Amino acid sequence: MIKAVRGTRDLLPPDTALWNFVEAAVRDVFRAYNFQEIRTPVFETTELFARGVGEETDIVSKEMFTWEDGAKAADYAIYKKWMVSKRSADTPLAAMDPNMATADSPLPTAYLPDKKQYVVFAFRVSAEAYRELGRAKALKNSGVLQFDELLLVTSEPAPEGFSFDIGGMKVKVERILVDANPQFITLRPENTAGVVRAYIEHKLWDRGLNKLYYIGPQFRRERPQKGRYRQFYQIGAEVIGPPASGSESPARDAEVLEMLATLLDRLGITDWNLELNSVGSSQERVKFNEALRVALAPLKDKMCADCQRRAVTNPLRVLDCKVPEDQPIIEELPRITDFLEEESRKHFDAVQDILTKVGVKFTLNPRLVRGLDYYTRTAFEFTHGALGAQNAILGGGRYDGLSEALGGPAAPGIGFAIGEDRLVMSLQEKTPAESVLRKPDVYIAPMAGMNADAAKLARELRRHDLVVELGDDSFRKLKKSFEAAEKAGAKYILIVGENEVKADAFALKNLATGEQVSVPRAELAQKIQG
Ligand code: AMP
Repeated sequence: MIKAVRGTRDLLPPDTALWNFVEAAVRDVFRAYNFQEIRTPVFETTELFARGVGEETDIVSKEMFTWEDGAKAADYAIYKKWMVSKRSADTPLAAMDPNMATADSPLPTAYLPDKKQYVVFAFRVSAEAYRELGRAKALKNSGVLQFDELLLVTSEPAPEGFSFDIGGMKVKVERILVDANPQFITLRPENTAGVVRAYIEHKLWDRGLNKLYYIGPQFRRERPQKGRYRQFYQIGAEVIGPPASGSESPARDAEVLEMLATLLDRLGITDWNLELNSVGSSQERVKFNEALRVALAPLKDKMCADCQRRAVTNPLRVLDCKVPEDQPIIEELPRITDFLEEESRKHFDAVQDILTKVGVKFTLNPRLVRGLDYYTRTAFEFTHGALGAQNAILGGGRYDGLSEALGGPAAPGIGFAIGEDRLVMSLQEKTPAESVLRKPDVYIAPMAGMNADAAKLARELRRHDLVVELGDDSFRKLKKSFEAAEKAGAKYILIVGENEVKADAFALKNLATGEQVSVPRAELAQKIQG
């Protein structure tokens, strides 16, 4: 039997009714706050997430579903090095003179002395550049080059066995990766990077402040457990725009948080807790990170393996640790709040002030840092008791430098992502899927030979926005139709026989009360609607 891949699952009816119920409420609430929907692709270039989420994060370093698109046999590690370091895909050949190797030239990163057997040029060459390469003009004086294999990433097909010489040495190109646009592609692990990419690509700053929301699947290669899947769904929103549009204002943070409180209340999730923190500007965070590193140096050996690693690579992440034995140590660490300078502090105070005035309760949690590198200032999570260890229903925060990190103009923003799977889980107890499922108003049961007349009637009733389940005449006995109607949860059963068609009036039975009446065709819809 072929099964769904571990960490993925089918959402089946009636559960999907609850998903639809949630999504309908979300769309309603977001509309009231004047948010509009954006749909970005489910896959993007790997580079977007490497730059937009941060290479040091768990998501990018361990959890992405990535594949190579088009190219035949690229060495991922080599390609990734090139991809991350490249400044321009169209670096002229002259710039590839190895003697000119500088931090800005693609050559030093492509040159892998530790691997010895490789010297790799990875670049896109035009047809013209190919000819030049053949003449090897630009690669004179390249005695420093030693290689067994040359890897070319090209935009043009090249002849098999293509060769050229460098410094008098005949070089055969062993592997040529031909692809108009060779790239690594990743299933999106989150949606903010995609939204900001779209913001930059479509120059959405022309519209001033953008208030966008999305609903869709995200993908992370995590160890599956309750409430944690490899394909999961997020509902998110982003407020982003040029600074002049007010995108940096604490009023925006507060509006987003108040909208979330409204949404959860509307869904009947009342026992939520909003945890709030400010993670400061990127400069303040650098100082805080350094202070943590210093504080952790003498302590880290007593901590879990993850913390020992994080204490060196990304001390901020230590604050995320859930291991009980580590908690007393973490409690004593420096707090971000002590590193906030006046501007950040004022911003944070203003957010809290508005929340208090509009009546949204929150708890300050100075340990809340969130998993993504790009957050600045306001960071938050909504948790819910029923969810156990995976108790965060949603998280978000400000990402004022993200657009610049992706090559765009300054575009402060704030956003969040709700884990829809977890939201539905928290709803399930109080609101069973059956309770939001719209059952058939009527089950139409045709007698032998009456399928066409029944279909005509169904068509008419459905135009009145009734939910109609249309049976067919394969059940020989009416009793079977009654059973099918009960099973479908229909309110009425409507019998379509020759006599009824002749009389243009139909036997309609209320399955709950057992009352049966003959109703003229023209009055049917009204009678069923009640
Ligand atoms: P993040 O993008 O990591 O801030 O996650 C935002 C929200 O998405 C979390 O609060 C969770 O509710 C949800 N989430 C994240 N990862 C998963 C997962 N693997 N499975 C289910 N929900 C998830």
